[in-house]
Amino acid sequence: MASKKNVYFFGKGKAEGDAKMKSILGGKGANLAEMTNLGIPVPPGFTISTDVCAVYYENKNKYPKEIKDEVEAGLKRLEAVMKKKLGDPSDPLLVSVRSGAAISMPGMMDTILNLGISDKSVKGLATKTGNPRFAWDAYRRFIQMYGDVVMGVEHSKFEDALHALKKSKNIEMDTDLKASDLEKLVEEYKQIVKKNTGKDFPQAPLDQLWGAINAVFGSWMSERAITYRKLEDIRNLKGTAVNVQSMVFGNFGDDSGTGVCFSRDPSTGINEFYGEYLMNAQGEDVVAGIRTPERISTLAKKNPTIYKQLVGIKNRLEKHFKDMQDMEFTVQQGELFLLQTRNGKRAGTAAVKCAVDMVAEKLIDKTTAIMRVSPNHLDQLLHPMIDSSAQKGAKALTKGLNASPGAGTGRIVFNAKDAELWHERGEKVLLVRKDTSPEDIGGMVVSQGILTSTGGMTSHAAVVARGMGTPCVAGAKGVLVQGNTVEIGGKRFNEGDWITIDGTSGEVYEGKLPLVAPSISKDVNTFLKWCDDVRAGSVRGRIKGFAVRTNADQPDDAKRAFAFGAQGIGLCRTEHMFFDKEKLIHFRAMIIADTEDERKEQLKKILPLQQKDFYGIFKAMEGRPVTIRLLDPPLHEFVPHTEEEIGELAGHLNISPEKLHSKIGTLLESNPMLGHRGCRLAVTYPEIYDMQVEAIALAAVECVKEKIPVHPEIMIPIVVTARELRLLRPNAEKILEKVFTAAGVKIPVTIGTMIEVPRAAIRSAHIAKYADFFSFGTNDLTQMTFAFSRDDIASFLPTYLEKNVLDVDPFKTIDQDGVGGLMELAIKEGRSVKPDLKMGICGEHGGDPATIDFCYRVGLSYVSCSPFRVPLARLAGAQAVINNPGKNITGGGSGKTKPATAKVKGSKKTVKGDKKMAVTSAKKKPAAKKKTAKKTGAKKTGAKKTAKKKTAAKKTGAKKTGAKKKTGAKKTGAKKKTAAKKKPAAKKSVVL
Ligand code: PEP
Ligand code: MG
Repeated sequence: MASKKNVYFFGKGKAEGDAKMKSILGGKGANLAEMTNLGIPVPPGFTISTDVCAVYYENKNKYPKEIKDEVEAGLKRLEAVMKKKLGDPSDPLLVSVRSGAAISMPGMMDTILNLGISDKSVKGLATKTGNPRFAWDAYRRFIQMYGDVVMGVEHSKFEDALHALKKSKNIEMDTDLKASDLEKLVEEYKQIVKKNTGKDFPQAPLDQLWGAINAVFGSWMSERAITYRKLEDIRNLKGTAVNVQSMVFGNFGDDSGTGVCFSRDPSTGINEFYGEYLMNAQGEDVVAGIRTPERISTLAKKNPTIYKQLVGIKNRLEKHFKDMQDMEFTVQQGELFLLQTRNGKRAGTAAVKCAVDMVAEKLIDKTTAIMRVSPNHLDQLLHPMIDSSAQKGAKALTKGLNASPGAGTGRIVFNAKDAELWHERGEKVLLVRKDTSPEDIGGMVVSQGILTSTGGMTSHAAVVARGMGTPCVAGAKGVLVQGNTVEIGGKRFNEGDWITIDGTSGEVYEGKLPLVAPSISKDVNTFLKWCDDVRAGSVRGRIKGFAVRTNADQPDDAKRAFAFGAQGIGLCRTEHMFFDKEKLIHFRAMIIADTEDERKEQLKKILPLQQKDFYGIFKAMEGRPVTIRLLDPPLHEFVPHTEEEIGELAGHLNISPEKLHSKIGTLLESNPMLGHRGCRLAVTYPEIYDMQVEAIALAAVECVKEKIPVHPEIMIPIVVTARELRLLRPNAEKILEKVFTAAGVKIPVTIGTMIEVPRAAIRSAHIAKYADFFSFGTNDLTQMTFAFSRDDIASFLPTYLEKNVLDVDPFKTIDQDGVGGLMELAIKEGRSVKPDLKMGICGEHGGDPATIDFCYRVGLSYVSCSPFRVPLARLAGAQAVINNPGKNITGGGSGKTKPATAKVKGSKKTVKGDKKMAVTSAKKKPAAKKKTAKKTGAKKTGAKKTAKKKTAAKKTGAKKTGAKKKTGAKKTGAKKKTAAKKKPAAKKSVVL
């Protein structure tokens, strides 16, 4: 440390640092240096590096002597340049001491102004400036700031004294206080300091300086700074730098002033000079809002010279940094100084407009433009937001999970039925519930927003709300629903009271806050097209492109997603198609059917309804791939719950409610998420998937006959062993063939599976043999890898985050090490059997930018997310391509580090521990495989290579096995168990 440079000087047209040194000098220090080098007027000063901040903490808030010496040498140099000494009794140099980390953390750390004034030097300042009022005002401001920030005296104590003085003088404005009043106030302030700290206010300039430097370094670890870093996900910074800079004053009189300006409008992005200023004021006056600042355009008339100079500087800075600049300036007695410049924070609309305009102006290239807009920016554009000025003045009652973005305001209703009734009356409602379930769908659709007290990011409320684009705050612990009242953040609300939720931040507000509507401009479309081009042009070994699909369950969702730029459907959850009341009753009847015949009877009624939906979805997607997942209903979500619903269903089935009750009782499971769901249902009741496949085939035929291109992909969920696929795949193929032959058409249909159970990931090499594609169901994969219930995580997640047990909600951003590790394994193993096996993700993580980056790195071909997240994913995908150049993945690769340029392992790979099965399977299946390849278009894939090896399985063994199993399953589970007991060894050896 001793030999390292710690203090960097800037002033008089030369600086020791520059803009590239942000990690050492912080953003502010680096840009002050850069501006100095550019010859822009910047008050001289020096920056103490971020390394010193780290040393400060390592050394228990002290510094080695060399650092102290270096700082004090920096001060001497500054004094020499300024030809003044800090705290000099006759003509004092005054400095500001400001924080500045590599990433801007506005307002989160401390600042001290006017440092160097003391009882003696205040008089010198008064004489030298000929302005005693200014000098005493500067001193009282300094004591107030230093007393609060460095010495820990509550700010309000000073404010009270100031207020009392003004009251006693019967004046309103600070500016009406005379020099003698301020002198008295200084005395009182010093006593406040003494009384509250037991110490005198420091008079020695160096004591003042070190006190301030310590405070600024200390503010790096203040609670608000730590929270901010956590919220903004700012990590791996060394600390803050400290900038010590000679003061310039905007409160010297009417030829002085201060302001903040942007080179373009930060709300709209329009290329016009934007900002505010106040004459005869210090920066804090602008922030405090005591006086209303004027628009920067009025400066053109008031002081054309300064205005022209400022416009020249902002143009220069924008050209230099090639980005919109946010600048602070001060005019002291007609002389202009720049105190800060940084890339301006901007609203979503402005981010896109600036990016598109700057490309047109040839200021930046398209790649830079893509990196300039954050996925959050795009998210803002697609949802209504709370008007920012209203949000500033409002205090959130509580905060939950930001489950579905956008803001909603409405009158509280506590159940879905009321939501519908109120909606019919023309009321805007907000559904507040402990949690939601499928029967709430009608109420959810008509609600402006959904607020739940339990449930996580993949709870029913969250998933459905995201799909519908409805704002949702889920798992808000501060919400307590009790009958027809609710306590939110300790405040009681009744049905009909107005509340506002912000699903983007998770905050809940009292009352009806004004919202601003979303807008998708021409610029956004242009911008997203650039993103599409980048993704389409990406090459990772054998994988070309990186597509964005959507999770859509209804033709309307599909249409919306298509309009948002979805390149296909990655997940159509067919059980969601039964949310509709008309279908739900048949679906429930099917679930509770006693016999196969009864079930088939209900399935017959469902088939045309499903066919109609599939047709609508195929049509909406105009020939793009549509992955239809066969039923995976967590049964507990679908059985009727209330007496009313039970009565209704009993009436429909013509049975007694008692009988229905007892039937429902037999369906209840202790762990429904681990229960009779997904393909397990089809193993026991094959007719369910048969009906669905038939509906898909019939819808596809309908489209083809109408010359509408179709590209169906059938997906089998919750697979844990290849045997499930080996059993179910031929069933589906048979039905496809039957329908297509009868219609006289040939439509390629691929059949793949979800990898959403850890076992499936581990055994993916086997599963790949029966799958044309994999889609990672990361909701369940996360649930089962962590053993965290996706519906109940809200009860402990906040504590896990608070105590740093987890960095992020694993249901929101993929856990790269654990769940991601399983994905990587599955990718590698799957592609070792079929090198071109198409893989994507369809869990909710598919719309999360960090996860999208991971998916690109590990070699997925596409991500799929809810319709409203499609634009965001188009951008995040392009950013992943740009951020990870030269990826060359074939057999999967580590997403964490540079992926191995994995050699393509041939399909000859002997699958460990499964030699016997592989051979058996290979011998048994060739003809059937060939048939599949032809039918499904798998000829393009590795399937063709393996087709020969996978011999007559379907013809012989597999078919037989399947048939046998089917029969067995149909009979009873008990029989299966007995069989398993009788042949334990055989069972073990063939588990896939
Ligand atoms: C998943 O598990 O990731 C998935 C997409 O399926 P679902 O959320 O419907 O269980
Ligand atoms: Mg799942």
